[in-house]
Amino acid sequence: MQITVDHVIRFIERAAALIRDHAAELTELDTVIGDADHGANLNRGFSAVVVKLNTFQESDIGAILDMTGKTLLATVGGAAGPLYGTAFRRAGALLAGRSVIDGRDIAAALEVALEGIVERGRVQRGEKTMLDAIAPGVETFRDAIMNGSSLEEAARCALAAVEEGMRATIPMQATKGRAAFLGPRSIGHQDPGVTSAYYIARAMVGLDDDPPAGAPEMQNP
Ligand code: ADP
Ligand code: MG
Repeated sequence: MQITVDHVIRFIERAAALIRDHAAELTELDTVIGDADHGANLNRGFSAVVVKLNTFQESDIGAILDMTGKTLLATVGGAAGPLYGTAFRRAGALLAGRSVIDGRDIAAALEVALEGIVERGRVQRGEKTMLDAIAPGVETFRDAIMNGSSLEEAARCALAAVEEGMRATIPMQATKGRAAFLGPRSIGHQDPGVTSAYYIARAMVGLDDDPPAGAPEMQNP
């Protein structure tokens, strides 16, 4: 399967919708082990991206991802803005000039995005951050593509790895970001950033196309 500019635009719009519908949940998680702004921060950023997308005449996937990253950097703030912003910008740089991409291109773009987060966050796995979902997701996607899986199959496996990584943050003690100030009291709570990463991954898989009426409300806590 080939991925076009339209697919990428739909992914970003779906991500924005999921972040909007789950903003309260993300902020609630950030209330417990942070400063209660994660949902609002990301919702502001992705809403700004969607506004720009409406007038953005581009047939270049790299340019769309770069615009997304720049806008997130400028509007989200906190820790998550620079991290997601860097990830989207790195992926955009790799895919500059491309109007059609395949599974291998996506795997490569995800890998440079992951590297961007690691560098920018000076973070490693097990520190109870978004990386704990993103890293296993990227690795699972890459391995599936290299083993000949279809894009859909690779994406579904990756999403399962992201979800597992998300849940795995619950028993972890945070050693990065605001939650680290809580020390052992950060144990027992799911990381907010890992949760937003899960929704963005869900948007990538396209699970939320044409949800039944009322579904977004029902997903709210
Ligand atoms: P802030 O903590 O500045 O209020 P947000 O609430 O928007 O920023 O985002 C918090 C999330 O950012 C955390 O849940 C965690 O997943 C992620 N995070 C924080 N610091 C780092 C880091 N150094 N590396 C990777 N992710 C981080
Ligand atoms: Mg916060």
